[in-house]
This record gives sequence, C-alpha cells and structure tokens, in this order.
Amino acid sequence: MRIGRSAWLTDTGRRRVRNEDAYVFEPPLFGIADGMGGARAGEVAAGIAAAALKDRRRDVDGEASLEAIIAEANRLVWERSVADPHTAGMGTTVTVAFVDTASERVVFGHVGDSRAYRLRADELEQITTDHSLVAELVQSGVLTPEEAERHPQRSAITRAVGTERAIDADVFSVPGQPGDLFLLCSDGLTDMLSEDEIAEVLLAADRDPAAAAEALVAAANEHGGEDNITVVLFELEEGEPEEQPAQEDDDEHAAETDVLEETQGDPAAVRTHGAGPGGRLAALAFIVVVLAVGALALYWAIRR
Ligand code: CA
Repeated sequence: MRIGRSAWLTDTGRRRVRNEDAYVFEPPLFGIADGMGGARAGEVAAGIAAAALKDRRRDVDGEASLEAIIAEANRLVWERSVADPHTAGMGTTVTVAFVDTASERVVFGHVGDSRAYRLRADELEQITTDHSLVAELVQSGVLTPEEAERHPQRSAITRAVGTERAIDADVFSVPGQPGDLFLLCSDGLTDMLSEDEIAEVLLAADRDPAAAAEALVAAANEHGGEDNITVVLFELEEGEPEEQPAQEDDDEHAAETDVLEETQGDPAAVRTHGAGPGGRLAALAFIVVVLAVGALALYWAIRR
C-alpha cells in the first residue's frame, strides 16, 4: 500500500473577507486547521498550528508522536495568545492524518469540528467526532442530526488547540487499503453540504482528488459559501511505498508539482501532488533546451 494521488484546495468562500483556514500538505502528513478569534487572530492561530505540524513532520511515526506534535502546536498557540493581547483567546481546530504505509494504517489527530472522511467502495464514513456543542447534544439525544445541521450554535466548539495550556486531542488510527479516498475538510464545507452530497461529488469526480477538490469547493460556494472552505484529499493505492527523501528541498519540490489556479473569481489555489500541467511544461521546456543545445553542438562539430 502507498499514497496515490492527492490534492488540496482552500477558498475564502463568498461571505468572508479573510481566509482563516490553514492546511498541511506534506505527504505522508496531511492536515487542516480552522482558526477562530477576533480580528486576524484566527488566521494567526491556524497558521501557527499548521507551521508547527509542518516543522515537525519528520518526527511523526505513529500515534504517540502525533499526539506530542499536537501538544507542541497547542503550546505555541497558547503562548502567543498569552504574550500578545491582540490574539487573546484565539484557537484553532486541527485535524491531521499520517499515512503509515508500513503498518497499512492511517493515524489521526483531531481537535475541534473540522472533519475526516473515508470513502471506501461507495460508502462515505465520517471518522472523526466533532468536538462541538451540537455534536454533544446529538449524542445525548437532545437534538436530532438534522436539527444539529441547522442549529444557530452549530459552529460553537468544545475543544480547540491553543485556548488552554493543556490539550486533549483524539488520537487513533484506522486501517487503510488500496482504493480508499480520505478527505479532510473545514466546516465551511460540511455546513454547506450534507454527507450524501459530499459522497455524490466524490463519486461524480470519479474519486480523482484534484477534480473532487475543485468540485467540493464549487458546490460549497453554490450552496452559499458562508465560511472559508478547505479540503485536503489523498488516496491509497496498490504498490510499494515510495522512499521518503532524507532531505527534501521544499522550493524545488513545490516548483515541480504545483498548479495554481483561480476559481469563482476568489483567490484560491489548487495544488495537486504528481505531474501537474506546470510540472509537465517545465519538463518539456527542459527537453527543448537540451535538444537545442545538442543540435547547436552537432552543427558546430559538423562545420568544423
Ligand atoms: Ca470555519
């Protein structure tokens, strides 16, 4: 088993001025952080948490290390909020997935109401539990799931990264198998689309992560786009795991795989992992240059 295609997309949506979502796209580590707090504090909190996960990505090898890294992210957001009055009380959700190809499992760390789903065969299953007021009221039988979806307090979360000195993260792993498609998303997606609608979009996109990312964000905007929308998707496929390079040059890595696009007139970026049009174009340009230099060398050799 190994990671197949993967993609991410983040969009401000139609109502918000700023995008306070952040993401982590560092295969085999993927994540979402949805910040909250006044002024720009939400953006700061999500940014700090995502940066902490990226910085420590090479230390993640299972549940214990993932839990430690979420605790570290919590400490960094908390310390900043204590030191900087402009960011007092800020926090962020974190939903992070680490693909452990050796054990054929996907390890999750989760705090807040961002979500992880797994599409296996045609069944979409939510594999995280929301740490939200409405989720608790559904669990205790006070609200039906349908009432929770429309509840005015549905975005009130009961746990967040950075709002307290200590953090209680859900950390667990699920078995992965070739053909599984995983989706991590912020509530800007799940408030706009039901689980059935998300499943329909994934199947209509033929499980292609990049196509699905675009279609999910477009659908959330069509349904109102009331909040920032961020999705990260990755699939598992048959095959030997690829060797992780010991030292990876991020800029080089980015240049070879990134595709930037605009959607819906809002600034949005799509990145697909693998040979995107940008990568192919660069490769083609390289080949043309090599051929031109070769032809020139041959020309001079013949002339002489
Ligand atoms: Ca949100």
